[in-house]
Parts: sequence; structure tokens; C-alpha cells
Amino acid sequence: MNPAVRIDSETGLKIFNTRAAKASEKITGKGYSVVADQKLTELPKMPAGATFNAEEQAKYRAFKEARRGAADYMAMEGAFKKYLDDVYSEPPIPREALDDECEILVVGGGFGGLLLWQKLSQAGFTDVRFCEKGGDVGGTWYWNRYPGIACDVESYSYLPLLDETGYVPSMKFASGFEILEHCQRMAERFGFYDHCLFHTTVEATTWDEASGRWIVQTDRGDKMRARFVILANGILTTPKLARIPGMEKFRGESFHTSRWNYNIDLSGKRVGIIGTGATAVQAIPELAKVVGQLYVFQRTPSSIDVRDQRATTEEERTTWAKEPGWARARRARFARISEVRAAVLANDEAGKIQDFKERKKHDRELTREELMQKQLDSSFRLMEQIRARVDAIIKDPKTAAALKPYYPYGCKRPTFHDEYLPTFNLPHVHLVDTAPRGVSEINERGVVHEGVEYPLDVLIYATGFQWMGTSTFNRIRGRSGRTLAEKWGTEGTRTFLGLHTRGFPNLFIVTGPQGGGGSFNFTDVIYAHADYLIWMMQTMRERGASVVDVRKEPEDKYAEHCRDVDIATAPLRDCISYYNGEGKAAPGSLAYYGGRQWDKFRMEAQSSLEPYVFGGDLN
Ligand code: NAP
Repeated sequence: MNPAVRIDSETGLKIFNTRAAKASEKITGKGYSVVADQKLTELPKMPAGATFNAEEQAKYRAFKEARRGAADYMAMEGAFKKYLDDVYSEPPIPREALDDECEILVVGGGFGGLLLWQKLSQAGFTDVRFCEKGGDVGGTWYWNRYPGIACDVESYSYLPLLDETGYVPSMKFASGFEILEHCQRMAERFGFYDHCLFHTTVEATTWDEASGRWIVQTDRGDKMRARFVILANGILTTPKLARIPGMEKFRGESFHTSRWNYNIDLSGKRVGIIGTGATAVQAIPELAKVVGQLYVFQRTPSSIDVRDQRATTEEERTTWAKEPGWARARRARFARISEVRAAVLANDEAGKIQDFKERKKHDRELTREELMQKQLDSSFRLMEQIRARVDAIIKDPKTAAALKPYYPYGCKRPTFHDEYLPTFNLPHVHLVDTAPRGVSEINERGVVHEGVEYPLDVLIYATGFQWMGTSTFNRIRGRSGRTLAEKWGTEGTRTFLGLHTRGFPNLFIVTGPQGGGGSFNFTDVIYAHADYLIWMMQTMRERGASVVDVRKEPEDKYAEHCRDVDIATAPLRDCISYYNGEGKAAPGSLAYYGGRQWDKFRMEAQSSLEPYVFGGDLN
């Protein structure tokens, strides 16, 4: 057995062996089933000519306004810190604290970290170190292992490095467990494990102007120096809890979906789940298969579109095996689809995705208002189909009414499932409609709503994650001594391409605020960001520069652009959602809605180099 830290005699670099063993063999699961019943896999017909008229708009507005201010979340601190425990791995591998230097330190061992390593090492950057909070790779797919978990972007375009590993996912929408295995495959194939410090959380990152290095401190007592720090720790990383009076009193078992406790046997139990977002939609059908009684506490219904799951065919496997680069080509075709639903359903069976932008050309150029109205009308018609699907499947009219969402498509994260709605027809599954304010009381025995007590053995929080913000932002101190959170708190979120932020030299943020979301497939964004970072570090090598920062003017201009596109497209997302900070975020401060304009900004910057301030001397 290799020690946790040793020196490679050839390169002189440290090699790590800190991957933790699995905590339990009970942690296994599946994703979406293939559903044969055609009634469940097709949406009812599009209502002809339906428009998003004044009456419907008023209904949407009322639905939104009733929820304003209802969302109240809290971090997992104090008595709730236990919800953050790593339940998937054995305790951390003991190791010495590191007090040394590396060229590039990356925070995160998920898709971002794994892809960065493959690309960086290919480009000749080998002095790279990763810090990962979990006991193994996977990030999102390490932490989220609830029953039913699967990706919602087709796996052939979503899983990174399929061409390079020769792997073909078994299903169109692979289960989270298969995706985690693919992460391990990528790590093994490209030697990632040697470079990663697992069970290591970065606690402080401070710029030292004199040495031109970041000082990175961790919860393992490390104090490492790095020329570059890359944040690849995800967009929905930090789990959050709904703040509900009395929740600390509950005497049964409880956990958050991102730390699913497989040691608790749910069979035959009275189980409650709070929340009906993308996670709950996938978990509920699987829970219903094992528990005694299931109580679903819903504040806002998700839009439940068809899933259309299927197994990868033998023909596909054979064809793709003969086509080097098939996955890259497929991902590129997908990236050209601008229409969200078409993209997410991803029907590329013939391998000939149409360019939707071209197909939708109009006789004359539409005004901005006309285009917006057209988009709102088609969103409305699709939501009508989604609501009609609820009526077609759900037997109890009261339950059906509660399950119908009234907001534009995609305003909250669209979900897809062919088993979710039928679950509510089962006699032991109970929808508790807590709209519009949500669950507001928990006691020793369970959840109380409108004077009715729901006694529970187990309570599951499916209450989501902090969006576009990780706990790292308030622990990174740049040139002025201010933290990133302080800078953005006073000036508003300001980045260049979402990747740089002025005053924080040599710090790169992958898929963060103003950077991600240019594509519906975050894997695309990670690829684009990784390519950009490699270009940047190679450019610096060529120029002999050791430090890069960005100028104020291009950063301001880019932040202004993010604000403008957010405002221009806001009617399409007019509801209360984590996407818009529950209705409170400043426009342009979270996800990026400018699509391909990100590429335009990037290409201009790469050709003129005008936004950058290069400094230092590499030697
Ligand atoms: P989420 O979408 O943020 O859902 C949290 C849920 O908790 C919402 O339904 C929310 O209701 C509800 N809630 C909060 N406080 C409540 C209260 N007091 N009473 C009742 N309900 C309450 O979180 P998530 O489902 O974990 O999903 C997070 C994101 O992870 C997804 O949107 C997606 O981006 C990603 N994800 C992806 C996949 C996939 O690709 N397959 C699967 C799972 C998750 P309101 O809507 O009223 O706020």
C-alpha cells in the first residue's frame, strides 16, 4: 500500500493516495426505468392557437405573487451540521499537512476537475493539485446518490471524455450511479487520483502580492502556495435547508437528499419528503416502491414533462465504435439547438440534429416585443400540455389541481418523468399541498400543516442547494484584502467571462456566476472554460508573464452585458425560483443568459488581449 503522500522520483512532484474506501455496500441504485405505456410517454396534443393572453398572464402573476417572500433557507450549521457528514466513504486517510508549492491548485474533483486534469496534463501542465471535500471523485455525482437519480441531459452529450475512454452509457439518461462510475473511470484512466487530496476542504485562499502566489489553507492543516487557483467546485454545491420552526425537535430520522442515508431502512416506514424540485421528482417514484406511507410536502409543483428513457442500442454501440470522436461531434450538434425542450429531450436518433435557429427563420425580422410574445406563447402552449398531462394521469381532481404549475416553461427547472405523476394515484402516497407558503411547522413527531399533524418515522429534506454560490466566495481574499463576496456584495457581481474577477489575479472560476449557462449542457460550458484556461496559461508562458488580472473597463462592460441580457430575457423566467435568487437577485448576478455572445466576448479578448493586464516575470 502506497503512503498517502510520496515523492515521484522522476518528476520530484508529490503523488497522493488519499481516495477513501466506500462506506457501505448498501449504497446502490438506479435511475429512470424504461416505461412502455405510451399514455405515460407522450404529452397530450398542443392546444391549437392558445395564447398567453391577459387572463392567463394574470393567473401566472397571482401564482408568483402568492409565493413572494415565502422561500426561507438556512445553511447547515450548529445542530444541522450533521446533515453535511460524508455518509458515502470511510473516514479520511490520515496524512501529513502540506506546506509546499504547486503551479495550479484546483478546488473540486467533479466533472470540472476531472476534465481540467485530462486537458491540462495533455497540454503539458502537470504540476497540478486538486482539493476535494468528498472521499472520491464525482462532485455532484458523489454527493447525490438518492434512489432514482439520473442525468437530465442525454448522457451521450453530458458525460465528459466518452471518446477518450471508449465508454458508451447504457441508457439515454444514465443513472447517477453509472455517472459516478464514469467519473472513477476518468480518474483512473488519466491518473487523477495521484493528484487529488480527498477529504480536504479549502478554508482560506489569500493572494500574496510579494510572491505572486495564492496561499491556500485547508481543514487538514495544509498551507499550500499556488501560482494559479481554479475554482471548479460547481454551481449547486452547498446544500441548504428550508428554515422551518421546530425542525430541531423532530425525533425521527432525517437527512438531506444530497447525503442519502442508506443505513436507514425505509421499508414499510412512514416517510415524509419536503420539496418537489428535480431531486424529489426523481426520488419519489422510487421511495413509493419501498415505504409504507409517503407524504410529499409540496409548495410549488414542478413541470413534469415526458422522459422517454431508452436503452442504448447495439446498433448505436457498433456505429459509434467505428466513428472516432462521435461523442464530441454529437455534443457539438446539440450545442447548436437553442430551443431548451428540444435540446433536453435530445431526439437525435437519426444522428441529424437540425439547427433550430435556422429552421425558425421568419419572413421578416421580428421586433424584440414580437419575438418575446412568440416565445411566451409557445412556452404557454407547452405548459398547457404539461398541465393537461396532469389531468390525463391523476385520478383525484384535488391532487391534479395541486400538481399543475403556472409559470413559463423553464422558469423553474424543467423536470422529466414517466413514473412521477402515476405515483400520486397510489393509495399510500399522499400529496400535502402547502402552497403558497410551504411547510411552516415541524414537531417531535412530524410535520404539521394547517392544524393537521403528519406523524413520520423519517423526514427527508429535498430542499436544494445554493445556486451559483459556494461557501468559498467569502474565503478568497484578493489584492485589496477584500473577499470575493465583499467585492461582489458592494460592487455587484463583476467578472470577465465569469472566469476572471479584477483584483483576484490568477484566480479562475469555472461555470460560476456570469460564466455558466451559456449552454443548457453544463458539460459544454466546462469544456469551453477548460480550453480557455489552457489558452490563457499558455499565453502567459509565451509572454513570460506570471500574473494575469483584468482591466476595470472590460469587466464593467461584461457585467453590464450580463445585466442587459438578463433583463431582456426576464419575462421568460417570470416566477420565484432559485435561478433568480427567489426573486431577489440583482439582474445579471447569477447565471449567464447571453448564449453564444459569451463566445464573441471571448474571441475578441483572445485576439486583442486588451482586457488583460499581464505582469510578473515567469522566471
Ligand atoms: P430545488 O429545485 O431547489 O427544490 C427545492 C424544493 O424545496 C422546492 O420544491 C421548494 O419549493 C421546496 N421547499 C423549500 N422550502 C419549503 C418549505 N418550507 N415547504 C415546502 N417546500 C419547500 O432542489 P433540488 O430538487 O435538489 O434540485 C436542485 C437542482 O439540482 C435542480 O434544479 C437541478 O439543477 C439539479 N438536479 C439535477 C438533476 C438531474 O439532472 N437529473 C436531478 C436533481 C437535481 P419552491 O419551488 O416553492 O421553492
